[in-house]
Amino acid sequence: MPRKGLLKGLKRIVVKIGTSLITEDGKISRRCIERLVVDLVALMERKYQVVVVTSGAISAGAGALGKKRERLSIPEKQAMAAVGQSILMDEYRKCFRKHGREIGQILLTEDDVKHRRRFLNARHTFNALIEMGVVPVVNENDSVAVKEIRFGDNDTLSAHVANIVEAGLLVILSDVEGFYHELGDDKPLDEIRVIDDEVRRRAGGAGSAHGTGGMSTKLRAAEIIMKSGELMLIANGRRPGVLQSLVSGEVVGTLFLGGKNHMQSRKRWIAFNVKSMGSISIDRGAVAALVESKKSLLATGVVEVGGRFNPGDAVDVLDPAGEIIAKGIINYSAAEMELIRGKKTREIREILGGTYYEEVINRDDMIIYEQM
Ligand code: GLU
Repeated sequence: MPRKGLLKGLKRIVVKIGTSLITEDGKISRRCIERLVVDLVALMERKYQVVVVTSGAISAGAGALGKKRERLSIPEKQAMAAVGQSILMDEYRKCFRKHGREIGQILLTEDDVKHRRRFLNARHTFNALIEMGVVPVVNENDSVAVKEIRFGDNDTLSAHVANIVEAGLLVILSDVEGFYHELGDDKPLDEIRVIDDEVRRRAGGAGSAHGTGGMSTKLRAAEIIMKSGELMLIANGRRPGVLQSLVSGEVVGTLFLGGKNHMQSRKRWIAFNVKSMGSISIDRGAVAALVESKKSLLATGVVEVGGRFNPGDAVDVLDPAGEIIAKGIINYSAAEMELIRGKKTREIREILGGTYYEEVINRDDMIIYEQM
């Protein structure tokens, strides 16, 4: 299908801007930001809603203090992010204001998307900003994030932001034209519909001296977006008016398209954000009920319980071969599950008395990996 058709009905776009696009000689460049802002504002004038994810805080800080990024320790990098983030925002603010637009800064850590309430809070804030015509400008909260709560790179962060705001398209702007099939090809691929081992191998590793992400982090972002049933595009942010071109249906960059199924927002959160606290193994009958009949999971099909979890936690669901086939939000604690596994609803009522749930995991609170 031509690009124009694919992008039809598109309203909300997340645009990720890599460090290399907005730095010159190791310093943040107003000229480069200005050029991108002109393109972003033009999108807004065409009634698209825009969210920006920008890198560059560490480089901005290091540039301002005359430090070499490669030589910095982790706390020093975090300190540079603290200095640089305000410089970065100041630049974006000045550029957007020239066009009568205000910006709002949102700094996220991985923790913010793992907890359902914080995830929803973030969504409400984004929506409020967008409704006011303000441009949300996002970065990772580098100054406080430690390894355990880091996204680690802004490609992955931008995919989560796209999920939070339910964007139809994530555009990752960097200094390459797109995804190349072979090194040395003169044109990048127009489209990628499946990310297999071959594609992963071609992506290689590494990032540049400026940013953290290479092609492999972009693929990780693409996997999240494709499984959610949305679109992602990698394009060269140095191309003048690249955003205008792409919404006009011109073939620029590489478009990643997943399945047609738009995963519900709650399911995306279960799939990509929440950590599994335990597992339950189910029998063959229950596997068929989940996978083929698309039913909820009942206690009668549960054979074994692993880990410690509470009602509302996520657990992995294992088939008789021990393969993880699903993940869901469980209605019972691990201790309760031990009592009721293998039991019928009537027996559960007798064992637990009073309040009980019909289902161990409701269909709406569950993702089946094979069907993603
Ligand atoms: N959050 C980092 C920064 O603003 C960039 C991470 C990345 O390059 O992906 O400096």
